[in-house]
Amino acid sequence: MLQNAWRKEFCKSATYGAVKRAAKKPYVGENKRRKVSYECNHCKQLFAEKEVQIDHIEPISTFTTWEEFERKLFCDITNLQVLCKVCHKKKSAVEAGERKENRK
Ligand SMILES: [Zn+2]
Repeated sequence: MLQNAWRKEFCKSATYGAVKRAAKKPYVGENKRRKVSYECNHCKQLFAEKEVQIDHIEPISTFTTWEEFERKLFCDITNLQVLCKVCHKKKSAVEAGERKENRK
């Protein structure tokens, strides 16, 4: 629960905004209400804002203290990328698989 509160804070941070701005592209299409698109860093397709997520390239998955979690969450902009939900899901699945492998 605490983790979610931190993530919410992170979404309001300047770094988060900057990553999103970097992926922002002008929207070209039929929808008159939509002005911008965001480019997925993986599949390079364009998506609406609600379809993209900010991903930590080096995942936060493992942390032992809240200080460590905070440091990893509020990381440098170079460790962040915009991914569409599909790519994000795939990446998370791979990472979860790797974690399982490491436990063996
Ligand atoms: Zn993608």
